[in-house]
Amino acid sequence: MTIGLRCVACGRTYDIGDRAWRCSCGGLFKLEGTALFAAAGAGSDRPWSLWRYRSSLPIFGSRDRWEQISLGEGSTPIVQDSPGVLLKLDFLMPTLSFKDRGSVVLVSAASELGVRQMVADSSGNAGVSIAAYGARAGIETEVFVPASTSPSKVFQLEAYGAVVRRITGSRDDAAAAAISRLEQTGAFYASHIYNPFFHHGTKTFAFECYEQLAGRMPDAVVIPAGNGTLLLGAALGFAELVDAGLLDRPPRLFAVQAANCSPIAKARGAHVSGSTETAAEGIAIQNPPRLEEMMRAIETTGGDLLLVDEESILRARTALLARGIDVEPTAAAGYAALDGWDSDELGTVLVALTGAGIKTPHAP
Ligand SMILES: *Cc1c(COP(=O)(O)O)cnc(C)c1O
Ligand SMILES: [Zn+2]
Repeated sequence: MTIGLRCVACGRTYDIGDRAWRCSCGGLFKLEGTALFAAAGAGSDRPWSLWRYRSSLPIFGSRDRWEQISLGEGSTPIVQDSPGVLLKLDFLMPTLSFKDRGSVVLVSAASELGVRQMVADSSGNAGVSIAAYGARAGIETEVFVPASTSPSKVFQLEAYGAVVRRITGSRDDAAAAAISRLEQTGAFYASHIYNPFFHHGTKTFAFECYEQLAGRMPDAVVIPAGNGTLLLGAALGFAELVDAGLLDRPPRLFAVQAANCSPIAKARGAHVSGSTETAAEGIAIQNPPRLEEMMRAIETTGGDLLLVDEESILRARTALLARGIDVEPTAAAGYAALDGWDSDELGTVLVALTGAGIKTPHAP
């Protein structure tokens, strides 16, 4: 089966060479035609990066372009925090966030399609990651950010050679500006939200958990979720492990959002503020396009939404520092969600630590 795009709303299929970023009906895409996870039979030549799973990644074309583009991302450590609590240090990545899992696969695909120019929109780490791999692949990269984006992230984008467009208004306004730019230029939309290649990169998070823990999976996995690219990737990866007959069931997936900005709580009918005022800027997303998919990932695995308040986020960051681990507040939100974790009811847990502390400098 060749790799193709399918609209999750109407079922229409598209060739990946079409460069469509969503269906003409407005529906979002998923990818079809990748092979299932297959550790057995894979030789010892498998690299120690997420490309050790390349037989189940959406690779096409005649050349292994990823070999020139990869920075050895993936294979991040899992360490024990306390009995029954594991931490996956997924910020130990070339650009210091888990986004590199998705970007390397997406940019490798773009490169194979002959893309010379790409456009992204982001409030931070996704844009930085796409910019780094864009530089590596020799693809001109233009990133649209809300004007409020912290100067350090704008500097990081520019340092990688991306053209940065600061847009007055919200995160959604930056996305709208990127899309109108696509329409003018015909550039490729390197979107971590719309482009499902990204999710096939982040699914390797699940594969690594499976291999590193020798199949002894925790009962639950806790993931901070804004647009859900790690949550959805993990859901996809665990589902593929189940389909391959390697797991009986996926771990329960718990999404973490800030109490101040939780579109999942809102969709469930809770009365929540519509603000994006949270130190966890990486999950300050009011209208994630894949919200329904995110809710399905939680529900079908028997997981739930966990809300964290601002004080607990900052407390969790400090608590992790006292254990030698420096993460940004968005990543600390995941750890904060363990406050009151009932291990009798919920069992063992693995928390994804998604972004490094240096992303958000400590107060002097
Ligand atoms: C992007 C990001 C998240 C959230 O990822 P989504 O794909 O938006 O759900 C969490 N933590 C960090 C550090 C991030 O950069
Ligand atoms: Zn459609």
